[in-house]
Amino acid sequence: MARNRKERNSWAGSFTEKGGAYDWSSEEEEPVARAEPVQVLVVKDDHSFELDEAALSRILLSEAVRDREVVAISVAGAFRKGKSFLMDFMLRYMYNLGSEEWLGVPDEPLTGFSWRGGSERETTGIQIWNEVFLVDKPDGRKVAVLLMDTQGTFDSQSTLRDSATVFALSTMISSMQVYNISQNVQEDDLQHLQLFTEYGRLAMEETFLKPFQSMIFLVRDWSFPYEFPYGQDGGMRFLEKRLKISENQHEELQNVRKHIHSCFTNISCFLLPHPGLKVATNPNFDGRLKEIDGEFIRNLKVLVPWLLSPQNLDVKEINGNNITCRGLVEYFKAYIKIYQGEELPHPKSMLQATAEANNLAAVAAAKDLYNKKMEEVCGGDRPFLAPAALQARHGELREEALRLFRGVKKMGGEEFSRRYLQQLEGEIDEVFLQYIKHNDSKNIFHAARTPATLFVVIFI
Ligand code: GDP
Ligand code: MG
Repeated sequence: MARNRKERNSWAGSFTEKGGAYDWSSEEEEPVARAEPVQVLVVKDDHSFELDEAALSRILLSEAVRDREVVAISVAGAFRKGKSFLMDFMLRYMYNLGSEEWLGVPDEPLTGFSWRGGSERETTGIQIWNEVFLVDKPDGRKVAVLLMDTQGTFDSQSTLRDSATVFALSTMISSMQVYNISQNVQEDDLQHLQLFTEYGRLAMEETFLKPFQSMIFLVRDWSFPYEFPYGQDGGMRFLEKRLKISENQHEELQNVRKHIHSCFTNISCFLLPHPGLKVATNPNFDGRLKEIDGEFIRNLKVLVPWLLSPQNLDVKEINGNNITCRGLVEYFKAYIKIYQGEELPHPKSMLQATAEANNLAAVAAAKDLYNKKMEEVCGGDRPFLAPAALQARHGELREEALRLFRGVKKMGGEEFSRRYLQQLEGEIDEVFLQYIKHNDSKNIFHAARTPATLFVVIFI
């Protein structure tokens, strides 16, 4: 990846700060972060979930991205089904955005998510690319694009539950979920959707909004192009047939089919051909284009821009609100809490967690507004302000912050939200006390009146 470090730097606004995990380049003045996947969520052997909050915060709360609306793209599915391979091409596209030649040259090995080898790739959980891309959408908005790799085993009864849960989680967190499946859409692929379609049903009772955004079924090694051609049109027709409800289906499967349409704002499907025997079987294959089947590459050139071109990037929305990187951290934390128990989470508790995160994100945004504006009024380098003036400014800004909080659409209702409003008021008042102290310390007259200072003054 060092090859196009310069290009990457233009996207890497989020990596100028110093952090333990970062590499330092000797030839360049700017510190350069090593771009790599970071495991932010792990499902451990005892089926407990662990969120690496520090890593998540380092990536999503860095100054350049935290207040940007976020586009969270997840590629989810079982191991060894070509997810990393695809995501490396997605990275190439992101690093060469706007270039016709984004796919690279025939002889270049593929790097990115596949760097990580060995047992680590067998970890059920979520990895995110530690570089958040800043992209200008055609409507002038600058959005932050986050790439996630969601994987599980889906093979035995005990791991199936973990994987389905991780999958549900990443669907709730992402604005675009690419469901990577092999050869066909099988009944059990659809069954994995069961858990969150149930959550979706409850969420809709509460808000009337679809709880999830885009679901893209990506079928790898599609081998019936004469029935349904490669690409999205063939994919859509194929999916329609697969999702059709018929009399002789088990009731549960009928329900999944009924709900899936009502849960997602967009559902689509793309049929991708087999990449060729070198890719599938040669252990020394390192991703060079010249060893990949032409048909696969032709379809890749359609698929990747279809997913990632700026006009197609959907900002994450929850309950009708656009979510920023900062907000996404809150949702991550809230959802993970409900998954920490032994049992599969009840959809009701997911709804509760959404409402909680929703309110907490609004508290964080309101507090941030108050802090920022108070810093301008009486922060570190501002001169001393008469206490009455400080009190007046505080009153105005406090009201402004509370207005912002009230203005955010929230789940869970008025009663539920009141608790968070009180929390916000309490926290603002506490910070205000700090500002008063800080302001007082700048008052030289005040300082001179304290006995200790008087003592020093007399003895000098
Ligand atoms: P992941 O575990 O899902 O991330 O899978 P990887 O991207 O690591 O790929 C696993 C293996 O499948 C590698 O040997 C790849 O070369 C190969 N592979 C990648 N894409 C495809 C594909 O579309 N079809 C097939 N049959 N193999 C693929
Ligand atoms: Mg992988």
